[in-house]
Amino acid sequence: AEEVGGGDKEVVKEYFNNDGFQRWRRIYGETDDVNKVQLDIRIGHSKTVENVMKMLADEGSLTGVTVCDAGCGTGSLSIPLAKEGALVTASDISAAMVAEAEKKAREELLKGKDELSPGLVMPKFEVSDLESLSGKYNTVVCLDVLIHYPQSKADAMISHLASLAENRLILSFAPKTFYYSVLKRIGELFPGPSKATRAYLHAEADVERALQKVGWRIRKRGLITTQFYFANLIEAVRA
Ligand code: SAM
Repeated sequence: AEEVGGGDKEVVKEYFNNDGFQRWRRIYGETDDVNKVQLDIRIGHSKTVENVMKMLADEGSLTGVTVCDAGCGTGSLSIPLAKEGALVTASDISAAMVAEAEKKAREELLKGKDELSPGLVMPKFEVSDLESLSGKYNTVVCLDVLIHYPQSKADAMISHLASLAENRLILSFAPKTFYYSVLKRIGELFPGPSKATRAYLHAEADVERALQKVGWRIRKRGLITTQFYFANLIEAVRA
């Protein structure tokens, strides 16, 4: 059973260093070379980032708070976090993604100056799969990454991420409900030219069970949807 979905990680890494990098760099960027579906996904994803920033700020100032952004992509969350004074460790399995995130962080945080504004710290960037991360962070965030893995793998990832977090763990994943399962099936019947890797949906109850197993409970939950983007967003704390 261990090998069910085996190889996902290598396939995902290869994808996000090549075609997936090109596709998602555009979706997560600001340029208008995106199609309607990609633009819709860009808007949905930015809503997720906004919601996470709100969730985090609700608990007080982010200045000096350590945050691990696992699977940071192009830095969509890491950069706004750093702008709020958080001490961000941003990592991703894809070296291409990390390089892009680092470049964007320089542009957006330095804005052509030699030094950062007082109180701001450049995120620390690392190429690493999240399973290999170590250390302790006040808050661990992992957005839109679990979609690339089946539940069996996701369980282990959630458990590892929780072990790195002192206070909070924030996760987003594509919800497995009847409606979205049907939509996904339809999508699979008509693979477009820009078809992505395999996508896995996760039931909130399964994610909740994985958290409970390691002594965590869900404190906040939300659903973010646009026409083509669906994310369950949860904030977990120690039970
Ligand atoms: N979290 C970012 C965001 O929301 O803007 C990026 C989301 S993107 C859909 C998924 C990212 O997860 C990609 O950058 C990919 O390289 C990364 N990823 C996939 N599997 C990973 C793993 N096992 N460990 C770390 N990063 C991973």
